[in-house]
Amino acid sequence: MISIKSDYEISLMKKAGNIVYKTHQYLKPYVKAGITTKELDKLAYDFILSQDATPSFLNYDGFPGTICTSINDEVVHGIPSNRKLKNGDIVKLDIGACYKGYHGDSAWSYAVGKVDDKIKYLMEHTEKALFVGLNEVKPGAHIGDIGAAIEEYANAHNLGVVRELVGHGIGNNVHEDPDVPNYGKRGTGPVLKEGMCIAVEPMLNLGTHKIYILDDDWTIITRDGLPSAHYEHSVVVTKDGYQILTGDDNFE
Ligand code: MG
Ligand code: MG
Repeated sequence: MISIKSDYEISLMKKAGNIVYKTHQYLKPYVKAGITTKELDKLAYDFILSQDATPSFLNYDGFPGTICTSINDEVVHGIPSNRKLKNGDIVKLDIGACYKGYHGDSAWSYAVGKVDDKIKYLMEHTEKALFVGLNEVKPGAHIGDIGAAIEEYANAHNLGVVRELVGHGIGNNVHEDPDVPNYGKRGTGPVLKEGMCIAVEPMLNLGTHKIYILDDDWTIITRDGLPSAHYEHSVVVTKDGYQILTGDDNFE
C-alpha cells in the first residue's frame, strides 16, 4: 500500500530530508584524498545525532555503517572502512536520517580531487537523469513514467542502467511501497497522488549495467569494473508536481 502523508507528516519529512541535505553539505569539504570512508562515516554519525535525528541505515538489515560509501566500480551499499580516498576517485555517499519517526534518504556522487573526463561525463549525466526522472513526478503520472524517462536518457548517453536496485516510497520506513525502477514503460505501474513521498535514485554505469555482490554481502560492484554514479532525492508529490525533501529549499 502506498501511504498518503498528512500535512503534519510532510512537515516532519521535510525536516528529516533537510537534515540529510545538511549532512551532505557538512561532509562535502571532507571528501578529499587521504580520508578514510570510516572517518566520513563517523563525521556523519556525529552530525546526524547533533540534529536530534538518528541514522536510518545503521543496523538496517545489519548494515554496519551510518552511511553507504561506494568508490569507483562500487555501485551502492559500500561499507565504511579504512580504505582511503584517492585523487581521481568518484565516491558515492548515501545518507539516511530519521527525525521523529520519519525518514529522509539522499545519495550524491563526489569527485575526489580531479577526476578524468569519463567520470565527469558519468556524473553530469547521472545527475541530469535524476532530474529527468523527477520531471515526470506529478499527480496522475505513473511510476513507469519516471523509469522510462531515466532509461531513455541513460540510453541516449550510452550509460548502463542498474536494474537490480530501485528507488522506493519513503515515510515511517526508509523503504516503503512502491518500487521506483530506473527503467520501465510509460503508463504502467502505480499512479502518483498528492501527498505520496518517493525516493528517485538512478544508478548509472559507464559500461555494462551488469553488477554482482561482493563477499561482504553488501557491496554491489559493476561486472566490468567501470565506474558507477548515483544521485538520489526524496520528494513529495504536490498539487502540480513535486517538492524536493532532501534539499535546502524545503522550508517556506
Ligand atoms: Mg539512499
Ligand atoms: Mg533510497
